Amino acid sequence: MTTIMKFGGTSVADAAALKNLASIVRSRFELRPVVVVSAMSGVTDSLLTSTVIAAQGQVDEANQSLQSLFTRHKMTANECLSPEIANAFAIEVDCAASTIAGLLKLFADYPSLQPELHDTIVSWGETFSSKLLAMVLSEAGVKSQQVDARGCIVTNDNYTCALPLMPETFERTLANILPVLDQDSVPVLGGFIGATSDGRTTTLGRGGSDYSAAIIGAALRVDEIQIWTDVTGVLTADPRVVPEAHTVERLSYAEAAELAYFGAKVLHPKTIQPAIEDSISVRICNSRAPDESGTLVCAQSITAPRTIKAIAHKSGVTTVQVTSARMLGAYGFLRALFEVFDRHRTVVDVVTTSEVSVSLSLDDARSLPSIISELETLGTVRIDRGQAIICVVGEGLKEMSGIAAKVFNAIEDIPVSLISQGASSINFTFAVAEEQVHEAVSRLHHEFFKEKAISAV
Ligand code: ASP
Ligand code: MG
Repeated sequence: MTTIMKFGGTSVADAAALKNLASIVRSRFELRPVVVVSAMSGVTDSLLTSTVIAAQGQVDEANQSLQSLFTRHKMTANECLSPEIANAFAIEVDCAASTIAGLLKLFADYPSLQPELHDTIVSWGETFSSKLLAMVLSEAGVKSQQVDARGCIVTNDNYTCALPLMPETFERTLANILPVLDQDSVPVLGGFIGATSDGRTTTLGRGGSDYSAAIIGAALRVDEIQIWTDVTGVLTADPRVVPEAHTVERLSYAEAAELAYFGAKVLHPKTIQPAIEDSISVRICNSRAPDESGTLVCAQSITAPRTIKAIAHKSGVTTVQVTSARMLGAYGFLRALFEVFDRHRTVVDVVTTSEVSVSLSLDDARSLPSIISELETLGTVRIDRGQAIICVVGEGLKEMSGIAAKVFNAIEDIPVSLISQGASSINFTFAVAEEQVHEAVSRLHHEFFKEKAISAV
């Protein structure tokens, strides 16, 4: 049995967070944890900024901008490690600082090398955090060892967004991690980073540590991948709108994917793809409330017909309606319409059509004026700004009868538009005016979760 425990940047932000993390890992030692960690919060951003400054030829300023980052790592080490070990870590940071200074100079001098140097510089965030964490764990009595993720995750050379290559990644991950586990030691790897097969450092894209955790989990065929953050799993609704919202115990991968659009707090479907392929469960845990079980995302969710899992919403949406008699019985019309959005690189979220009209929603209305003028060549265009999308999600929606009635009864006096049920049949989505979204979400939550609220009392 092995478990991946992935900790984000806030879980290693300072000495207090690191100590808390160490106690979480220590108390779960029997799960045979493999730890994957992000850079300390803000560190990746600072490293990126230093490359931007260096690209303008200001190498000294670029170096200067990183001094507080080096100090922060050393101070944190002082606070959680014995003086001797903290000193050893400080020496490593100083060495790295001069290496990074050299890299920034090259970055300024050789523009053609910038993509590769970019990833090498940025990777230091995870190298520092994984080194420091392995030391903190060891001092907390948890035998542990840093494992360089670049020796495990083999990628192509698409810098800043490199693609892991299989089966090499799986083979190297097993070869590097199993011997550490066999010694009853906890391997600690930096997320987000990898290397090409000839050893050039790459990164997997912003937020890529979750992806690393999923890849390593798939390689080791673990029982569970735990993503530790500082929020309480996935909630039944936004707690700012519905104070009685509670944690969803279990979601299917498909339910989690539907919810992902509505907030970064839910896993991005792409990042857990390797886990999905092997049906590995992903648990979202809260490092501030480690004993709560969080939300389990897995192949099957527990579902009773006509129940739902969560109500998500998003404000600041614009809806667009195009009406044209030319659509009737004609082909090519929808293609022409969507090409307009394609040309303006604008993502369309919800779409509904009738014989003579198409309605859709957009998050990003920046190109709207040009989009409108092009759409007007196709039909009459109506724009409604200040809209919100509400999405009711649950595998139980597959048993549709009764659900629509329950939804619309609860909000019968609130006008809705753009009603759609996704092809996956597990979401029911519609738009309301932004001013009414909080009222609508509160009422829906009450309607669908009132029994839970009563039983909790
Ligand atoms: N440190 C990287 C970032 O900030 C990767 C991660 O945290 O997941 O994007
Ligand atoms: Mg993240």
